[in-house]
Amino acid sequence: MNILVLNSGSSSIKFQLRETAREQVLCKGLIERIGEPKGAISITASNGRKVERNHPLSNHAEALEKLIQLLVSPELGVLKSLADIGAVGHRVVHGGEDYSGSILINDAAIKRIDELSELAPLHNPPNLKGIQACKNLMPSVPQVGVFDTAFHQTMDPVAYMYPLPRELYEKHKIRRYGFHGTSHRYVHGRARALAGLENKPCRIITAHLGNGCSAAAIRDGKVVDTTMGFTPLEGLVMGTRPGDIDASLPFYLLDRGMPEKEIITLLQKKSGLLGTSGGVSNDMRVLLRESASKPLAKLAVDVFCYRLKKYIGSYIAALGGLDVLVFTGGIGENATPVRAKTCEGLDALGIELDPKRNEEGVRKEALISKDSSRIKVFCVPTDEELVIAQETRHIVENLKN
Ligand code: AMP
Repeated sequence: MNILVLNSGSSSIKFQLRETAREQVLCKGLIERIGEPKGAISITASNGRKVERNHPLSNHAEALEKLIQLLVSPELGVLKSLADIGAVGHRVVHGGEDYSGSILINDAAIKRIDELSELAPLHNPPNLKGIQACKNLMPSVPQVGVFDTAFHQTMDPVAYMYPLPRELYEKHKIRRYGFHGTSHRYVHGRARALAGLENKPCRIITAHLGNGCSAAAIRDGKVVDTTMGFTPLEGLVMGTRPGDIDASLPFYLLDRGMPEKEIITLLQKKSGLLGTSGGVSNDMRVLLRESASKPLAKLAVDVFCYRLKKYIGSYIAALGGLDVLVFTGGIGENATPVRAKTCEGLDALGIELDPKRNEEGVRKEALISKDSSRIKVFCVPTDEELVIAQETRHIVENLKN
């Protein structure tokens, strides 16, 4: 079955067309600058062909219409007709407490995802735009929603409750949800297989380190805890978000006259690696390059690794031990000095990185710990689109039975 996998953002749509029987990526690409004067669609197909279009795309509906025209065009040579698309799988960010798994999208689900926009005002509305556009363009093609929060729904109240007045949870559903669930789920499964621990008891920490960063503590396939909370702001240091900070800071700044909007921008776009490095960069590549000559670039990397190390320690405590640690995401898969610095000094806890394996284990599945390490450490490239395609196929095939 050919499945179109969509990750619809506010002004961009990331897509892959996947063939599920052989788990092949037929083509993938990006639609950018939707709603701006200079829109762009770029597609790279596995047959080697590339197509680029630069013209305004007024909204998500027009962007997806143009994408589908290109997918069936002889120029790309990927699909013969629209009928070759068997289903569409959507990444949906917030499923609240309603969804602990993927769902077939119908009118009731659309309504619920819309209501959940309250919890994810930046993400669920553009996800829904993608869903609505596909519904109009391909009314008979089934659509599936795969939620970023779903994998974390196994957390117990002890991990997901904030120690705040009870009514905040009861009235406003204020609790910890966690995000990046599809990635944590995928790399956890791969690492379990690589460690020979499929269907065996196991305790795993997954560290998804990209522009956004989160870690999860997983016991026997169930998330026990994760670092992101009510929103993706909590937890680890990220490219431009600080992760955990003292909750009183925004009020301190408000009192001193900083406008609320500026505080939000400060926490979403100016903090994290970018802020700590004094504006050098939010990109770990640049910070690692500049570390030798710019003390604040080095400080940003050090704070990033230190806080991750602290979470690893706390999750070993939460899990009562650890069998496997996994690094993934743009930083986790590539930045060998970050992995080395994070694991430095953790020998006493059973983590011994192998310097040579660490250097070689880049952008591929690899064991990067020593043979003597009690805890196995892996690099596992994430593949959220694969999970979305598999979930979509599973749900659509069940429909037929
Ligand atoms: P992601 O959000 O998973 O695509 O990750 C993006 C981030 O990964 C970038 O902002 C960089 O900080 C980081 N990254 C990508 N490639 C490298 C690399 N070769 N070395 C260090 N960091 C990298």
